[in-house]
Amino acid sequence: MGYMIGVDIGTTSTKSVLYDMKGKVIAYANTGYQLYQDIPDMAEEDPEDIFDAVIEVLGQVIRKGKVQSSEIKGISFSSAMHSLILMDQNDQPLTRAITWADNRAAKYSDELKNNGIGAQIYAKTGTPIHPMAPLSKIIWLRNEKPELFKQTKKFIDIKTYVFFRLFGVYKMEYSIASATGMFNIFELKWDQQALELLHISEDQLPDLVEPTDTIKGINLKYGDLLNISPETPFVFGASDGTLSNLGVNAIDPGVVAVTIGTSGAVRVVVDKPVVDPDGKLFCYALTKDKWVVGGPVNNGGIVFRWVKDQLFAPERITAEQMQVSTYDILTQIAEKIPAGSDGLLFHPYLGGERAPIWNAYARGSFFGLTRKHTRAHMVRAALEGIVYNLYVVMLTIEKLTGKPKSIQATGGFARSSLWRQMLADIFEQDVTIPESFESSCLGAAVLGMYALGYVDDLSVVKDMIGVTDIHHPNTDNFEVYRELLPIWIRVSERLEPEYKEIAEFQKKHSN
Ligand code: ADP
Repeated sequence: MGYMIGVDIGTTSTKSVLYDMKGKVIAYANTGYQLYQDIPDMAEEDPEDIFDAVIEVLGQVIRKGKVQSSEIKGISFSSAMHSLILMDQNDQPLTRAITWADNRAAKYSDELKNNGIGAQIYAKTGTPIHPMAPLSKIIWLRNEKPELFKQTKKFIDIKTYVFFRLFGVYKMEYSIASATGMFNIFELKWDQQALELLHISEDQLPDLVEPTDTIKGINLKYGDLLNISPETPFVFGASDGTLSNLGVNAIDPGVVAVTIGTSGAVRVVVDKPVVDPDGKLFCYALTKDKWVVGGPVNNGGIVFRWVKDQLFAPERITAEQMQVSTYDILTQIAEKIPAGSDGLLFHPYLGGERAPIWNAYARGSFFGLTRKHTRAHMVRAALEGIVYNLYVVMLTIEKLTGKPKSIQATGGFARSSLWRQMLADIFEQDVTIPESFESSCLGAAVLGMYALGYVDDLSVVKDMIGVTDIHHPNTDNFEVYRELLPIWIRVSERLEPEYKEIAEFQKKHSN
């Protein structure tokens, strides 16, 4: 008997779950922190807050689970990707953690895209050229904050920081490294061309380790505080996105993980790194022999939220009075409209877009409006547009990894059976909604069990999660979607050259 702890360091909070060795949840804790957005495009967190949150959630699950130090077999970590912290000669942070959501490096990632160097580096690193990546952020800092750049001893991420505080060493595992834009995914080492471009040397980056590597000897101060023995192994773990595939049991070939939460993603696991000739997909390590290929989209459930807030204010009041979710009322309204919304199409690019078009200037649009269309059509078209966009990401992925076989879907959207069915109909695939709680924590814990030899194979995860719903594609519906999708894609391509100008107009006239 024993327990494994999974910790997930997220953008707005850190979560921790104590599991027994069969994956049963024994205790859970969650602590939030501030995201600093003082100026446009900034999105930073205080590394100290995050370290404190890690200590807090570990303490809480150990207390709540009433476990003895000797019963904790391991502690394994997940964290958000793309964060960057500059550390000085005295191992003190020179910056906050600059997160994936920070866009201040946009000018420099645009330059990399335009001068062709970005494509060369992407072909070796598998990280799309984007301001989110530490590669772009370091160029931005070198140019715009040279005094910080010059003082930097190490460029690290938030998980490396937490491990540094606990163990006093700078080590980064392949999964987080593969999302920096500086790691050669084919050779499993820092990419020389990237380092030369950044004007940094390899010793300014952490040592590389495998996600399954472990470390012992926690700093006694924290060991005593948490009642964790120096003998307890910590597993370096992986990134939240890749561990989420594991945590929802989407690790077999052809099993696609689709997430529609606030944002969205489509991800498939393959056994070797692959890159997209157009640079539109990521390829991140889960382990040395499992690689996650996929695309992140900005416009997921946040678009449904906009529809709710901007087009359905009266329904919000009714919902409050009836004490039901406005989303449920909107779903009922959309349900009355046939699949395809009587030919009303919606491109959901309210927040620019990453995959599939990677265009920060992209803007949303309804296409095909007639006087016959109602607000109900608009809400259905919006839900369909979000899924069409994810489907286009899937079409790009399948060129590299082959046809999908089935979908494991998660996120807030799964509360709507209409939306779940739409996913099955548009993708023409069976959709399963796993009953997974904190999938990245579970993924971290299962990876930890595997790393420490408690299980032989990551596939044990299938016995640890349940299933809440299964949807099969409806023939009538998918035939309608097959007719509409080519139009949706063509319109999207035709609008593309116009986005920059309209976005610049909006910027010029905003106050
Ligand atoms: P996050 O990605 O921030 O963790 P969630 O996974 O909970 O958040 O997703 C939030 C999104 O889920 C909302 O923006 C909304 O679009 C969608 N959502 C929430 N409740 C419902 C519901 N009852 N029906 C359909 N969609 C919902």
